[in-house]
Amino acid sequence: MSFKNLGLCDQLLRAIKEQGYEEPTPVQKEAIPVILKKRDILAGAQTGTGKTAGFTLPMLQLLSEHKPTKKTHVKALILTPTRELAIQVQESVALYGKFLPFKSCTIFGGVKINPQITALRKGIDIVVATPGRLLDHISQKTIDLSKVDFLILDEADRMLDMGFINDIKKVLAVIPKQKQTLLFSATYSKDIKKLSDSLLNAPVLVEVARTNQSSEQIQQVVHPVDKTKKRELLTHLIKKDDWKQVLVFTRTKHMANRLSGQLETDGISSAAIHGNKSQNARVKALADFKAGKVKVLVATDIAARGIDIDQLPHVVNYELPNVPEDYVHRIGRTGRAGNKGEAVSLVCVDEDEFLANIEKLIKKDIHKTIVKGFAPDPSIKAEPINMGGGGRGRGGGNRNRGGGNSRGNARNKPRGRN
Ligand code: AMP
Repeated sequence: MSFKNLGLCDQLLRAIKEQGYEEPTPVQKEAIPVILKKRDILAGAQTGTGKTAGFTLPMLQLLSEHKPTKKTHVKALILTPTRELAIQVQESVALYGKFLPFKSCTIFGGVKINPQITALRKGIDIVVATPGRLLDHISQKTIDLSKVDFLILDEADRMLDMGFINDIKKVLAVIPKQKQTLLFSATYSKDIKKLSDSLLNAPVLVEVARTNQSSEQIQQVVHPVDKTKKRELLTHLIKKDDWKQVLVFTRTKHMANRLSGQLETDGISSAAIHGNKSQNARVKALADFKAGKVKVLVATDIAARGIDIDQLPHVVNYELPNVPEDYVHRIGRTGRAGNKGEAVSLVCVDEDEFLANIEKLIKKDIHKTIVKGFAPDPSIKAEPINMGGGGRGRGGGNRNRGGGNSRGNARNKPRGRN
């Protein structure tokens, strides 16, 4: 999929080419066509995913399709939580729009208001603003937002965290009801849902995992270890550094249950969530985890999808996923919203191919360190992994020694989702 296929005009394609972007990022692939269809969107995308171009490019495209008017007026309003982000977004607007005739400016507090008033008087098409100073302009009638077609809220979760909700509501009161609204947020909370319900009209949901571009917030490490030593190593890591909140992933429901029980035996409070647990049990496990009553939540990939927890410090892949994209989803649970996070993978020799596929996907080698006392036994040979995991095989049901699965065809197996 190229930028051209997304339906962007020549002026934008030229600007993209100048930036050296070869192809759209996942959020751009998903969001751009939807925005061009004039739909509202609710997008879960963090910084580093290319989200700014994801909304700026189609916005510029749609604005360029408007009939020119005699007098310039504000057509698009982009709200950001901080002045730094406002500057960054306006730079992107200017960069991608350099071959289009639109004027843009930033509006934020902590600087003199008069130059902003002068700029607005001259005529501005696209305003990038923080809510507080924008309200000053609204109350002084130095900005006219009555013809806004586009409203974009960038990093909406941070705006809510910073207490901007009332300011946002006041801004909404002076812009037309009929408009296209795009809401970007790194996290989904109840407040974000409330805001999106009140603001968006039949929104299309766009959610993308972080790409490797954005994973610098996440420190990734692989600890090679024998399968039979994984549990001991996990307990050791949790106790050694006194980890307070750890999300642990397994491939199967069975393993999630088993591991959770074993951790309890090791004196580490733990709960498991997976598809076989009732909704109530899942809600309770999650609530206990969030409240710090249980230290470790052991989850399968599917069960973890609905979890929204900010700022998880540690994610552990007790078993690597057989679908490499799941690795990206898993580690995206940590290092959110600008916080540092650590993603630790305990990898036994059976999983070498899974690891190779993951490294291919994220286009980098993950740093490997052997934890003292847990060096893998080099005489142990790789064995096939059975993704069915029903609890009947040897060693706790996660293995099928006679099933004829070879490591080579592991990728062709059912996704083993639980
Ligand atoms: P953002 O998530 O909007 O903060 O963007 C993160 C970085 O990705 C910025 O430095 C952009 O210049 C860059 N970027 C955006 N889109 C692309 C793309 N399609 N290819 C390569 N880099 C990109």
